[in-house]
Amino acid sequence: MSAPLFEIDALRARAADSDGPDILSGVSLTVNAGEIHALIGPPGAGKSTLAATLLGSPDYLVSGGALRFRGDDVTDWGPDVRAKAGMFLAFQYPHEIPGVSLVTVLRQAVSARKGVDLSVVELHALVAEWADRLGIDSGFADRFLNEGCSAAEKKRNELLQMALLEPDIAILDETGTGVESGALDVVAQGVQEVRKDRPGLAMVVVSQHPRLLKLLEPDFIHILRGGKIIDSGGAALVEKFVKEGVDAWV
Ligand code: ADP
Ligand code: MG
Repeated sequence: MSAPLFEIDALRARAADSDGPDILSGVSLTVNAGEIHALIGPPGAGKSTLAATLLGSPDYLVSGGALRFRGDDVTDWGPDVRAKAGMFLAFQYPHEIPGVSLVTVLRQAVSARKGVDLSVVELHALVAEWADRLGIDSGFADRFLNEGCSAAEKKRNELLQMALLEPDIAILDETGTGVESGALDVVAQGVQEVRKDRPGLAMVVVSQHPRLLKLLEPDFIHILRGGKIIDSGGAALVEKFVKEGVDAWV
């Protein structure tokens, strides 16, 4: 039997800069190709900690358990090594980088992931195709990274990266995404557009928005509370969250 695509195995984690207790106290989750998993939970549940730990953030230390990707233990891999292997970690380039255009970053990221150097012309053609499909105006990619971008534009920028890098799994942290900005629709539509080409793309979406899950229609939903998964289910549980919000588990 081949290994699952992605496994979170009894994961424990704590803040790197404190000797406080574990924030995550044994989270387990198995993700197979093509599945969308949503992770929700009340404030303080550990959602942001889990997302940051999956992304390989230095702000958190894994104090127990493991992360496995295609059977390889990736717990100690840095974000760049994870990305090259086929894990897409949104918020890898969260900040404005003065003087660096999106197209430059994309070119380096595609080169690292695929081991081929696209010419500027090839990259522009690819960016133009996806910009059109994701509703991004041309010229966007030549702007400096995230400089003066709205929340929705930053989301489009991430989706463009996801489309070009062709990952096997994407981990999206939507905990900070505002509801008003239209950014949720951008995420949901963009994910659908990318999955048209790549139905095998698996996703873990950490969110707090019932509306996003209504749009994304995840296969599985997991409720995190007190650093543990307290409930998991399929469409019926997704519907419960969409209707009642996280209050149903508080
Ligand atoms: P959520 O995103 O679900 O609201 P968090 O992961 O942000 O929850 O936080 C979970 C718990 O861990 C909270 O009690 C929070 O105070 C604590 N925590 C999170 N990050 C840190 C940190 N860097 N240092 C100390 N405590 C932290
Ligand atoms: Mg949070």
